[in-house]
Amino acid sequence: MTSPHPVLVRMHPTDNVAIIGNEGGLPAGTLLPQPAVGLVLRERVPQAHKVALVDIPEGHAVTRYGITIGHALRDLLAGSWVHERVLRMPPARGLDGLPMGPGVSDEAPPAEPLEGYTFEGYRNPDGSVGTRNLLAITTTVQCVAGVLYVAVERIRRELLPRYPNVDGVVALEHAYGCGVAIDAPEAVIPIRTVRHLARNPNFGGEVMVVSLGCEKLQPERLLPPGSLPLRVLNADTVAAGDPARPGEGRPEAPYSHVCLQDAQHVGFGSMLSAILSTAEQHLQRLNARQRETVPASELVVGVQCGGSDAFSGVTANPAVGVCADLLVRAGATVMFSETTEVRDAVETLTARCASAEVAQKMVAEMAWYDAYLQRGQVDRSANTTPGNKAGGLSNIVEKAMGSVIKSGSMPISAVLSPGERATTRGLIYAATPASDFICGTLQLAAGMNVHVFTTGRGTPYGLAECPVVKVATRTELAHRWHDLMDLNAGAVADGQCSVGEMGWQLFRLLLEVASGRPTWAEQHRLHNQLVLFNPAPVT
Ligand code: CA
Repeated sequence: MTSPHPVLVRMHPTDNVAIIGNEGGLPAGTLLPQPAVGLVLRERVPQAHKVALVDIPEGHAVTRYGITIGHALRDLLAGSWVHERVLRMPPARGLDGLPMGPGVSDEAPPAEPLEGYTFEGYRNPDGSVGTRNLLAITTTVQCVAGVLYVAVERIRRELLPRYPNVDGVVALEHAYGCGVAIDAPEAVIPIRTVRHLARNPNFGGEVMVVSLGCEKLQPERLLPPGSLPLRVLNADTVAAGDPARPGEGRPEAPYSHVCLQDAQHVGFGSMLSAILSTAEQHLQRLNARQRETVPASELVVGVQCGGSDAFSGVTANPAVGVCADLLVRAGATVMFSETTEVRDAVETLTARCASAEVAQKMVAEMAWYDAYLQRGQVDRSANTTPGNKAGGLSNIVEKAMGSVIKSGSMPISAVLSPGERATTRGLIYAATPASDFICGTLQLAAGMNVHVFTTGRGTPYGLAECPVVKVATRTELAHRWHDLMDLNAGAVADGQCSVGEMGWQLFRLLLEVASGRPTWAEQHRLHNQLVLFNPAPVT
């Protein structure tokens, strides 16, 4: 089915291609509108795919977003379909001679602070703020996952009804902990990820660990002294017969611990009772917490995309970029990630870094990832999927240009290596693979309390640890998945609102979600597994 009004979207005035906006694409013979008035389509072009606006001779650059996304493998006549089979991908920009920040402040005046925006959050003892009040149970090894799964179901059924202020219980389950080269230099990545996951702001500073006993990742190695703030046991939570006097308080181990191989556990039932009774102590403290009004600066928003199409970089991701700027102006933390999807924009990113040191760390992360891919005998082009290409994205360069727009335009204040925890506010590059689950897991470890996820092809992605706001790039997807998509950025392509207005809509929605409004994924209890990034060997 074709629309009576052909829609062409060109991202930059120098682009020699534009994408077809109409649902179902456009047939051969269609007379094209602005910016190609008078041009006739030479063949059918699917929705979100590119059409040549001028004759592009063989070997010449094809430009979108004002940059070269490929070179023509043959003569491409004006009005013809430009897809991945007629393009040769340009090589990646080398990492030498990059502009090493600060670039933004030289050209643009500093952004005005955005004041007066707040949300209702849970203030934690370490100063961070949760958007949900969850009991999280940390694991040292996958061996305990089966027992913990049964225990979590019982906690949910038998205990949670008695603690109505607690939003849920989650097992921080993973495949690490044993059968791994734990002393390999890169083992630091999965280990610090599990450590920092335990400290996510949505878990209220309560850390409960379930271990097996014989695994390589012992609790003392996972959570060494100083890795967690010391908790002071309050008088009102002192157990009967405890020597501490009311009002006095005493330091307590910063986490509770159930070890399944402990001699005291005789059988499965004993393990379950120990997990349930330990969980109940944490639930009592979590249940006493109340939401309070906090400034928007307490948001720690992780942004990523998944199942992208050519509209991702036209509607949803630019709106996320506007929202990222608003958040940074409000003093919040915004993390963007997905190294293979920003690699082709490295030059603009290093120029945006707030200092040469930050730019150097950016380059180091890119170089590390180039080498990591090289070890596997691939490069960044391994990123794109069949769905991306069917959705009009010819290669990783085009995908990257549409992806990095999510970062907005503010200076980059810090760069995190995978699994590191954010300690500064503002716009942060948290280096992660683009894999949705690994990126989400690493952003949680970095301290994310709200997640923004854009999708064009559609994915029901969710996380149990943090609300995920899903933004559709196209109205057709938003309608078809009406009870999965939280916001329809397709309204931008439909001409119903501007990118700027959509960015504001998302900003306001994030404040509501942070205050407790459930996302669609939360209403359906949809969530994906945590997936650690382990570049080190397994044994
Ligand atoms: Ca992703």
